[in-house]
Amino acid sequence: MAKNKPEGPKYPRPQRIKLAVIPDPQGTRAGIKYEGEGTVIMRGPGHLTMECGNCGADLLVGVATSQVRNMVFRCNSCKAWNETLD
Ligand SMILES: [Zn+2]
Repeated sequence: MAKNKPEGPKYPRPQRIKLAVIPDPQGTRAGIKYEGEGTVIMRGPGHLTMECGNCGADLLVGVATSQVRNMVFRCNSCKAWNETLD
């Protein structure tokens, strides 16, 4: 008799990455300041969530790291500046 095994199909699992908090770039780099509703600055179809390195708010949801390389975003929740990986 076949048993139901707990292992399912191998979907790509949602992943979370904590961004690195950096000092205020003061215009030396093109930082993206998001001041709309909520904390999500960019949203895409992917599985990866990049969160604020300070407060853990979702900043980039479903966006591939290759799309936001070496960019600076300001968290709309705690106002910390976050840098994505190169
Ligand atoms: Zn934050």
